[in-house]
Amino acid sequence: MNRDTPIIEVKGVGEKTRKLFQKLNIETVGDLLHSYPRDYEVFEDPVQIARAVSGEIQAVYAAVCGIPNEKKIRRLTILNVNIADETGTMVLTFFNMPFLKKVLKPGGFYVFRGNVQRHGSHFTMEQPRIFPLEEYKKQTHCLNPRYALTKGLTNGAFRKAVRQALSDFVFEEEYYPEEFLRQYGLEAERRAAETIHFPADRESLAEARKRLVFDEFFSFLFLLRQNKRFSDGLENRFRMFETADTVRFLEQLPFPLTRAQKKVWQEIRDDLGGNRCMNRLVQGDVGSGKTILAVLALLMTAANGYQGALMAPTEVLAMQHYETICGYVKEYGIAFRPVLLVGSMTTAEKREVYAKIASGEANLVIGTHALIQAKVTYRALALVVTDEQHRFGVRQRESLAEKGESPHILVMSATPIPRTLAIILYGDLHISVVDELPANRLPIKNCVVNTSYRPRAYQFIARQVEEGRQVYVICPQVEEGEMEDLENVVDYAEKLAGVLPSRIRVSYLHGRMRPADKNRIMEEFAAHSIDVLVSTTVIEVGINVPNATVMMVENAERFGLAQLHQLRGRVGRGEHQSYCIFVSAQEKEETLERLQILNRSNDGFFIASEDLKLRGPGDMFGIRQSGEFAFRMGDIYTDAAVLKQASDAVDRLFQADPELQQPENQKLREHLKNAAASQVDFRSI
Ligand code: ADP
Ligand code: MG
Repeated sequence: MNRDTPIIEVKGVGEKTRKLFQKLNIETVGDLLHSYPRDYEVFEDPVQIARAVSGEIQAVYAAVCGIPNEKKIRRLTILNVNIADETGTMVLTFFNMPFLKKVLKPGGFYVFRGNVQRHGSHFTMEQPRIFPLEEYKKQTHCLNPRYALTKGLTNGAFRKAVRQALSDFVFEEEYYPEEFLRQYGLEAERRAAETIHFPADRESLAEARKRLVFDEFFSFLFLLRQNKRFSDGLENRFRMFETADTVRFLEQLPFPLTRAQKKVWQEIRDDLGGNRCMNRLVQGDVGSGKTILAVLALLMTAANGYQGALMAPTEVLAMQHYETICGYVKEYGIAFRPVLLVGSMTTAEKREVYAKIASGEANLVIGTHALIQAKVTYRALALVVTDEQHRFGVRQRESLAEKGESPHILVMSATPIPRTLAIILYGDLHISVVDELPANRLPIKNCVVNTSYRPRAYQFIARQVEEGRQVYVICPQVEEGEMEDLENVVDYAEKLAGVLPSRIRVSYLHGRMRPADKNRIMEEFAAHSIDVLVSTTVIEVGINVPNATVMMVENAERFGLAQLHQLRGRVGRGEHQSYCIFVSAQEKEETLERLQILNRSNDGFFIASEDLKLRGPGDMFGIRQSGEFAFRMGDIYTDAAVLKQASDAVDRLFQADPELQQPENQKLREHLKNAAASQVDFRSI
């Protein structure tokens, strides 16, 4: 059994389970073993009700008092259950679980585990899990892995499959040179893989994690370095001259470029007209106006008689760019003949577009990564702009080179990362920074609140909608069962529709929907046929709906600050005052302090550097990393030290043996060849 063995060959995995795993993009044993636990649940001893701490997941052992009380609010059934121990009482609330009425007998004792909230002397818990005491005791104090699940697949079934796969898996021989293992303190891959799924304690877990994170960073940085070596040697085959087109376009624009935009535009122009092929990153906070810079570079390309491509990470964003640019063509008569190319188009539609690209009839191609696939032949592709996904950029140079193309590459990124990390992670690119926002922006008003604030937030949302505005609500999960104690998009949308006045149109969006459905929902939101959009972070990149003025983020404690900042960038894009409500289900001081940084600043770089200061190797789990640098396990913030080690290791390797020709590097070379293939699987959004 190896990484490519189909999952169906794992003992105990049948057709039904295979389909469920497939929903989670787990097709092979390698995928399964790389699906690391989201976190580890530790069942502590139950606490007395009077000692329960607000905002924390805890267990109490208590008796059911009286008959549960059921209420119906439109489609929602709410069950309230009173419980008591010798120290106090607590009210449990369950949504849409009417069958519990029969299960929870008055006088029966159970362990209830969930998020405790305290309001004065009054304790509550929403949707706790229920255990008989004996069953709970069996599980206390272990580190139980919790996986990202889907409806129908239980955590137990997932664990069983992993355990079985681990016992039949044949691991590669150690591929790092001896001295790396010693110097960086890395344990064997096999041991790490086993421990990460079934840790004995926190110390061994940390060791395991270190090896896996190092592996991930190392192969990524190796690829980056290879890429740099390759592109540094490329000569500019598409030398461009500035024409009247860009000058005229700039004069016609309703606003002048900011000083920062002007500076970066100059850097881009110098590259396009210089001796070497451009390989540049434009980094700038959300809303700093990067799109216009991409448009200018593409216009210069078209005016010089070449073709340009603009690549976005999602179809929705690609379509939005397409519309913006068609708008410019109409309004300013600029020299683009644009086409759109996305995966969800029909074969016939695609064929027509391919023909236009091949003949040169189209001089600007806008789309998703579909536009650099093998089937697309360009007539004279001179510039590829990648919006909001640097990792795209890393691989695309190679894919393009394989097709015999070596265009200029311009990567746009809104992910503000601290400079020390940027030097490592963007090591293959020259960096331009747009460090200024257009002057006409109203700062966003922020607040960080706990869950008891929700009713007021909903009222506020309702009022904004009455005034004609639109609202985003972000939840970390897709559907119920992934993780019980986190808000999930599907149920939340239903709950919200029940609570808000019925004329308010609520809908939802998540990454597992089919692309066509995602597009439809986004278009409806953009066209204002939806008022409130409940979504996972799929909307974090680039979407522009200037009428949206409220961003409410549930379980904000689960997200990295950079990502929250990115989400916040979805509002405040129009003329209306915008608001951000960060709801934390945790009331720990550190958590609130971290979130308060967002309250104090709207500057992405400042936020990122503060986040780096506050997060250390202690926060191994639970915080979602920001999209652009989402590694499977490594987090560029909490694992910054390992990132530096991996970078150091790659440096040394490149100094000593860049082609990996030495016999002691043979195994590493084989390994990296395979790893490179899996690096391509950037998270599809
Ligand atoms: P981002 O850098 O996040 O991609 P966009 O390019 O989407 O930002 O720009 C955000 C908004 O700001 C757009 O509506 C754009 O037209 C506008 N904009 C860009 N540059 C300027 C400027 N110099 N002055 C005023 N508005 C600008
Ligand atoms: Mg953008």
